[in-house]
Amino acid sequence: MKFSGKNVLITGASRGIGRDISLVLAQYGLKVWINYRNNFELADSLKNEIEENGGSAAVVKFDISEEKEIKESLKCIIDSDGELSYLVNNAGITLDKLSIRMKTEEFEKVIKTNLTSSFVTCREALKIMNKKRFGSVVNISSIVGEIGNVGQVNYSASKGGMLAMTKSFALEGSSRGIRFNCVTPGFISTDMTDKLSDEIKKTYIDKIPLKKFGEPKDVAMAVAFLLSDNASYITGETIKVNGGMLMN
Ligand code: NAP
Repeated sequence: MKFSGKNVLITGASRGIGRDISLVLAQYGLKVWINYRNNFELADSLKNEIEENGGSAAVVKFDISEEKEIKESLKCIIDSDGELSYLVNNAGITLDKLSIRMKTEEFEKVIKTNLTSSFVTCREALKIMNKKRFGSVVNISSIVGEIGNVGQVNYSASKGGMLAMTKSFALEGSSRGIRFNCVTPGFISTDMTDKLSDEIKKTYIDKIPLKKFGEPKDVAMAVAFLLSDNASYITGETIKVNGGMLMN
């Protein structure tokens, strides 16, 4: 895959899917800005791993639900590199509960962390990318944003909103050649899905034609493609990475 840009910011990059996205994009020669919130050691060890393999990386600490921190961090990236070529909105949380027991605050917390934060980073990235008339953004949504799920009205709303929001950003960015796309993972083996009981995991696997959970690398490769020059005529699109669980 070919990349004309030079750097990428990946939110929630120190573990799970974000970690593999970082490793893959560094292999393609991009300088990777590894966003983390809590665990500096994890983020720093990923930076070291990338550098030991000949890549370039930096860590940047911010909470994606804090607009001020996002803006300060983007300023730090621009002060250092003079540009932001690519953005991957990967950080996300779940706070599962049946809707009749879900407090409004529990709904709003997930919307704020998963959706509002992505709006802020997309908006701020678009302002930066407009200046160079170059940029590409991938938002990590979810199969749950496409089909819904029991106990996840908050999460499904946040991820479904992300799908629609991405199309609107794609329209607004198009006149300057800035692309916005989504990836919708199905069930991927990370801390997020490790929380599920073996019984629930089996129920999901029964519904997956490829009969297994995906790996973070499966998502990372789709993200890399959508960011790259190889996808230069693709915008407002969604790639499903779900083992065939949803095909339309
Ligand atoms: P994960 O292992 O739980 O990792 C989540 C990442 O998000 C962590 O790096 C976490 O940082 C970061 N994060 C959470 N809240 C944050 C905040 N307020 N500010 C900054 N960073 C924050 O999750 P994952 O499975 O890799 O999921 C990555 C993305 O894929 C998420 O958007 C998720 O919804 C989506 N997804 C996952 C699956 C799946 O099956 N795993 C399926 C569909 C979609 P800390 O280490 O600081 O907590």
